[in-house]
Amino acid sequence: MLIVYNPATAEEIGRVATHSTDEVKAALDRVCAAFPAWSARLASERSDILRRWHDSVKADKEAFAELLCRENGKCLSEARGEIDYGLGFIEWYAEEAKRVYGDTLPTHDRNAQVVVTKEAVGPVAAITPWNFPFMMITRKVATALAAGCSMVIKPAEDTPLTALKLLEYARKAGIPEGVLEVVVGDPKAIGLILTGDPRIRKISFTGSTAVGKLLAAQCAATVKKMTLELGGNAPFIVFEDANLDEAVKGLVSAKLRNCGQVCISPNRIFVQRSILQTFLRRVQAAVADIEVDQGLREGFVVGPLVNQAGFDKVAHLVEQAKAAGAEVLMGGKPHAKGGLFYEPTILTGLQDDSPLATEEIFGPVFAIYAFEDEEEAIRRANQTEFGLVAYAYTRALGRSLRLSSGLEAGMVILNSGSVGTASVPFGGIKQSGYGREGSYYGIEEYVHVKYVLMAGAHF
Ligand code: ADP
Repeated sequence: MLIVYNPATAEEIGRVATHSTDEVKAALDRVCAAFPAWSARLASERSDILRRWHDSVKADKEAFAELLCRENGKCLSEARGEIDYGLGFIEWYAEEAKRVYGDTLPTHDRNAQVVVTKEAVGPVAAITPWNFPFMMITRKVATALAAGCSMVIKPAEDTPLTALKLLEYARKAGIPEGVLEVVVGDPKAIGLILTGDPRIRKISFTGSTAVGKLLAAQCAATVKKMTLELGGNAPFIVFEDANLDEAVKGLVSAKLRNCGQVCISPNRIFVQRSILQTFLRRVQAAVADIEVDQGLREGFVVGPLVNQAGFDKVAHLVEQAKAAGAEVLMGGKPHAKGGLFYEPTILTGLQDDSPLATEEIFGPVFAIYAFEDEEEAIRRANQTEFGLVAYAYTRALGRSLRLSSGLEAGMVILNSGSVGTASVPFGGIKQSGYGREGSYYGIEEYVHVKYVLMAGAHF
């Protein structure tokens, strides 16, 4: 039995029965049995069903938003934003289902045609995190189902309720049993079953780098395709020629979104020394205006950390930084509201090798570093094993071009703090993972390419 708590109030909000090993295996059997018929459906039929799912969830958006807010702790306006973002994937892939094109290539034999088709890879599995309990699921499910795959999902233990509600709406919309299944329970045991089953042809995982590496190793035995969206350590670089108002706005919204518990959250903020003091003052002023509160109310507020482990990690990183001599410009301690609330915090005077700079913070902490010139900024930004996203603010075209090629990240975001939408390829390089989600690149992850030589035109 999983007990689900509201991280803002510590109240119990639901109980979910966990699946036994046999029940997980039975769910996998259903997913495998459902695959042939689902993949054989016309793309337009799959598209219609996805569209019905989209419409039925959208009609109940407020109920989903409230559940998301209670389960994850993010505020209602953010929860609504996540639902729009997540619904965007269902809509996008309902359309994209119809656009999985093959190819005819120049032939090497005048009596033959070279045809390339794309086929659904097979039954697949997904393991999702708690920070976007709605969007992470729709992003994976919509892509898989559009491509013709059937899918089993294992949601995070902190946030299974949104996943189960999405499943309920999927059934009502006509997504058959087996085409989509949700299993809940011990992550390690379920992970071993999913990765060990040779019939499952792909795993899509979003979560920590440590678990991603473990799953990749487990998948090696059956040579499964994978999409891995792992940790990040995003640099956010502000040059002296930047529009500072925009840079502050972009930084604060990117950093405080979901209380900093986002893999694309700015983790190391590099500010050119000539504008450092001005920038610090402006960030302080912007953050001072933001309230910390439970999220079931109107307007943007910073919510709690999701659980005690998340809270302890943030508190520990900040204490370590303070002990190492960091200057605390704001916050730096648990919030007076108690529980899992932590004060939005601004720190400077840190070294590049401090844990705050090398680890993913996952909390409302602005860690700000000074740099002298462009070469130094790019070099230090790249000084990490991660490569998910890099942000930079500058008005100079030449510098923008150098940044876009010089920054080692799957996504380079210039003059904006906003990354995601259904129509762009989301994903990382280095130890942030591989594979892309969103856009037409996303569906390629769920198909394989088949080369067919059709010879014999002369007989
Ligand atoms: P976080 O630290 O952000 O919770 P995790 O990588 O631990 O990140 O969790 C992301 C997802 O991976 C969750 O659904 C979690 O249950 C799952 N998970 C954690 N450990 C394992 C494991 N050993 N095998 C499979 N899934 C796992």
